[in-house]
Amino acid sequence: MKLTDKILNRTSLTPFYTFEFFPPRTEQGFHNLVSRIERLSKLDPLGVSITWGAGGSTKDWSLKLASICRNEHSIDTTIMHLTCTNMQVGLVDDALRAAKENGIRNILALRGDPPRGEEYWIPTDPRFTSAADLVKYIKSTPEFGDYFCVGVAGYPDGHTESTADEDAQISHLKAKVNAGAEFIITQLFYDADSFLRWHSKVRTAGINVPVIPGVMPIQSYASFMRLTKLCGTRVPQQLLDQINPIRHDDQLVKDLGIRVAVDIVRKLSQNNIQGFHFCTLNLEKSVQKVLEQLRWVGVHAEQHNMLISVSPDHPRS
Ligand code: FAD
Repeated sequence: MKLTDKILNRTSLTPFYTFEFFPPRTEQGFHNLVSRIERLSKLDPLGVSITWGAGGSTKDWSLKLASICRNEHSIDTTIMHLTCTNMQVGLVDDALRAAKENGIRNILALRGDPPRGEEYWIPTDPRFTSAADLVKYIKSTPEFGDYFCVGVAGYPDGHTESTADEDAQISHLKAKVNAGAEFIITQLFYDADSFLRWHSKVRTAGINVPVIPGVMPIQSYASFMRLTKLCGTRVPQQLLDQINPIRHDDQLVKDLGIRVAVDIVRKLSQNNIQGFHFCTLNLEKSVQKVLEQLRWVGVHAEQHNMLISVSPDHPRS
């Protein structure tokens, strides 16, 4: 099912959430992840997304994992990420065709990062020089246009490569929506106030599609530092002051990660943000605990459903 239809047709009043996974590179890792996804699917995510390994390095695994989610776990809303990096002429069509054959109806259209070791991003297929080109191509190709619901990435803390100011970057985001993107998933961030300010500017710029914030519960000090650097995510000093003294205690770091994610999600839901995209890093416990502490799953969920009021994050037709 298309993600946007699923968002509009929700019957539950609880905020919705999606889970992101990346394809492991070994058979055993793949097998373990499939079991984990089966367990996590019981938390009733609105959908799951599967990343496309840097430079297309995991394309077969990404397709396989997305297909298993869709066809074996009945997660009818599966989003396959797709990048333009290293996509020789014809490979985009192959990937889209394979996704369609497997019933995957959502594509997160991305440009991708420069291949490992290279400083600049250079298109392999001259038709695809940016995410906007990929969106335009999918939406204008009769074989794919109506079939796929296409999303794009947004960057509340700015894109690492960009020298443009925030307004210009929001204009780039708008160009992707004008090209046909129907939803936005954001890069992870840890400053909820800054996200809300950015989100309000996005709406003021006339971008009306659902914007789903990316939330990553911190799993370890090392991965947190590496990923925030890679993604250009600003880490508030207050969070650094909390995490630095406990950096050598993995359990304390994970507990802090859960508290921080709960605080961010709570603050955003109080400000009418209705959906969240959890970067699971293929781990299940932290995301599960975040949802439990929010009382969105488990025994308190029903009570919560009765209390929450609905204020959609995007206009209904
Ligand atoms: P684009 O939107 O094309 O932007 C690329 C750069 O060009 C930016 O700096 C942008 O500001 C600039 N730009 C765009 N339009 C213009 C314009 N008109 N004029 C001037 N400058 C412009 N990577 C993977 O390899 N696999 C994944 O699965 C993956 N999943 C992701 C999921 C999410 C939610 C996010 C936020 C990122 C993900 N990425 C993934 C990372 C992504 O590929 C990189 O951030 C990449 O560098 C940019 O991709 P994009 O689609 O945002 O590119």
